[in-house]
Amino acid sequence: YPIIIPRSDHSLSRQNLSPNAVKVLYRLNKAGFDAYLVGGCIRDHLIGVDAKDFDVVTNATPEEIHDLFSNSRLIGRRFRLVHVTFGREIIEVSTFRAPSAQEDSASKPQESLKGKDSARSAHGIVLRDNVYGSIEEDAERRDFTFNALYYNVQDFSIHDYCGGLEDIANKKIRIIGDARQRYQEDPVRMLRAIRFAGKLGFDIDEETAAPIKEMAHLLDHIPPARLFEEVLKLLGSGNGIKTFHLLRQYGLFKYLFPDTEALLVSGWKRDDINPEAFILQGLENTDKRLQAGKTTAPYFLYAVMLWPSVVLRHEEFQSQGMSTTPALHQAASMVLDNQVASTAIPRRFSTPMREIWDMQFRLPKRYGKRAFVLIDHPRFRAAFDFLLIRELSGTELGGLGAWWESFQFANENEQRELIKSID
Ligand code: ATP
Ligand code: MG
Repeated sequence: YPIIIPRSDHSLSRQNLSPNAVKVLYRLNKAGFDAYLVGGCIRDHLIGVDAKDFDVVTNATPEEIHDLFSNSRLIGRRFRLVHVTFGREIIEVSTFRAPSAQEDSASKPQESLKGKDSARSAHGIVLRDNVYGSIEEDAERRDFTFNALYYNVQDFSIHDYCGGLEDIANKKIRIIGDARQRYQEDPVRMLRAIRFAGKLGFDIDEETAAPIKEMAHLLDHIPPARLFEEVLKLLGSGNGIKTFHLLRQYGLFKYLFPDTEALLVSGWKRDDINPEAFILQGLENTDKRLQAGKTTAPYFLYAVMLWPSVVLRHEEFQSQGMSTTPALHQAASMVLDNQVASTAIPRRFSTPMREIWDMQFRLPKRYGKRAFVLIDHPRFRAAFDFLLIRELSGTELGGLGAWWESFQFANENEQRELIKSID
């Protein structure tokens, strides 16, 4: 290693690359530094998927990078790196990093040997990892072989340090190094393995897959804010159904949505809600929208994942004598409070989630002026889509979805007729 694949032997052309990323590479090269494109953008192009963002690595330090680009900012806590901004596009530039220091043979969690630039938690999770290294070391600390492919713009070659090209050809997700050790250092890698399996349709190599079930509990030690972001990528990238099944199969789902998992396992159901059918319908709706190039709101997905728990709690509070609306608000608070211990949900998402849930109880009440008020509600569209998902998953609502569908596209006279027709 590395295996160097010349321009003539691979399908990646400069036209596929962001011109801004290419500019960054040339500027670094001109200043005498090595610089490569790496990671998702190379992987995705070789597989035939459109790359979202372009990551550059170099032997220049963050300060040297920052000095070269006036349009740049130093960022990062876990990792220090530089964002170079071109209008709305951000090119992420980082310095070659060495793998985090190994634990000693006693395998006692400890502050690493490399001092204050890297550190581990009591669970062996790497907290800081800012030790610079060579490109070989940089490759070794990446997660999967297909993420350790480097593109050199000087001769348009690809440098493969870990056998990523062969794994792409065989549609294999293979972790670099010892799977257990790599998951111990960063348990989120387990989620990333599942994410790539869902997204790319690749199989997870046996040794990469084997420890996941047993190590899944390490996700308990990951900050909920990081897991929140990870869930959005897992379920919100257009392959939600497949990813959901994989997460459950590998025992990871319960660390992301503990209440939802418990409810699914319990088999709880009611005539008007089948939790699993509902969640799958919600994911299918999201997948279809994304595959059609539309957007989805993150709060919508979260509202879907937690709705069955809200319905269950709502029933419990009502059976304690609470009336519908306060019981719903209590149920929503309880479910959200439990959930944020696993994945932090920012308020800008939890507020619209509550509104969507609330609207499920308001949409049936259409008499008088109510329908006109509801349709102007900022969350109407999301709440209506949510209602359709409930119906599609088997909840009988007496044609409520169809009624609102007509109402939205009717003129005012027709709308009045629709309201009259309710009784
Ligand atoms: P995508 O952008 O499609 O989500 P990606 O592979 O580009 O996929 P990023 O999170 O953007 O994912 O990370 C960029 C690169 O950084 C990865 O390709 C990988 O080489 C490395 N990387 C990211 N997360 C980890 C991790 N937890 N452990 C080791 N390497 C990682
Ligand atoms: Mg990326």
